[in-house]
Amino acid sequence: MLYQQSREESAEILRRVLQLMSPHPAGYHPLSYMVWYEHAAQLNPPLSQDLEKLLVSSSPVSDADVRRLHALHIAARDVELFELAQRDLRELIGRTEQDTADAEGALRHFTQTLAAAVQQLAEPDGDAVPALVGSLLAQAEQVCPRLSALHAQLLRQREQLVDIVERLERAHTEPQRDPLTQLANLNGLRRAIDGEDDPDGLMHVALLAIDIDYFKRVNDTHGHVVGDKVLVKVAGILREQLAGDDLAARIGGDEFAVLVRGKSLAAAAALAETIRSAAQRMLIVHPDGAQFAGDVTLSIGAAVARAGDTLETLRHRADSALYEAKSAGRNRVSVAADGKSQ
Ligand code: GH3
Ligand code: MG
Repeated sequence: MLYQQSREESAEILRRVLQLMSPHPAGYHPLSYMVWYEHAAQLNPPLSQDLEKLLVSSSPVSDADVRRLHALHIAARDVELFELAQRDLRELIGRTEQDTADAEGALRHFTQTLAAAVQQLAEPDGDAVPALVGSLLAQAEQVCPRLSALHAQLLRQREQLVDIVERLERAHTEPQRDPLTQLANLNGLRRAIDGEDDPDGLMHVALLAIDIDYFKRVNDTHGHVVGDKVLVKVAGILREQLAGDDLAARIGGDEFAVLVRGKSLAAAAALAETIRSAAQRMLIVHPDGAQFAGDVTLSIGAAVARAGDTLETLRHRADSALYEAKSAGRNRVSVAADGKSQ
């Protein structure tokens, strides 16, 4: 359970939440209360980071902001992990039911045999008694190991259950997917890299760091709803351009990353160029049906992994290249300086 504060602690947080909410136009409804509560209680660092960005920009927090923050950081704490853990839980329950039903069947059979034996003993036939006892013993010997196996099985299943509960807990606190674009988020990107079975770690991997140019202006000019649509469209472009094992992630507000496998720096830069030029042709439709084109451009930095790289060091080089692309005028692709000779 996420909200574990005592009554006194939560009352204190409530006072703080009301203070925080009051200067902003967003309503005092449960959605905005949850957003501010998780922020005030320091339960959700990515949410706080986004919210603080808004506060620093001194724009008032509107209902649209609250809905976006709620959707992004609270509503969808990774659906996929929940679904997987739920599936495992259902399978576990199914197996336990089957195992206990089998053991119950064996016991029922033994009980019936016992009842028949009691009847036979009521009319004792001296010669038959040893055979009867022998058959009872034989059946008891069959039932006992089955019960021991069931016991061992239940102990194993208890461990599996603990593991599933831990995964559900992690899924609750560590979402891996961005609910707006349905791309992986930074956690998802990290998991994808943790799952690399290449003995050379990150070798044969290239990373594109992608950022929308002047995205704040898109929001300011067209509104957050259109801004969100732009994010979803950029995600769509990334999906379209990716092959096989490549992975696209939204790792921050208007920042994306693409993990490309088995490509040289030149090939990764060519992919970046295709993505950049597709974004430039993007057509955005306003809620009222009006369309605009050409406002959205991307800057992209590309880097290729070297021996000993971690996601952080690789990201750092891709980000430096992105920074170069931004300072060189935006709407361009730049490759990591140390990669030029590769
Ligand atoms: P630059 O070319 O230097 O990247 O300029 P920029 O305006 O894109 O950069 P900046 O980091 O100043 O602005 C990013 C903006 O992204 C600010 C924030 O309001 C907006 N943003 C962050 N997350 C979301 C979101 O989920 N939806 C919308 N619509 N806007 C978002
Ligand atoms: Mg930007």
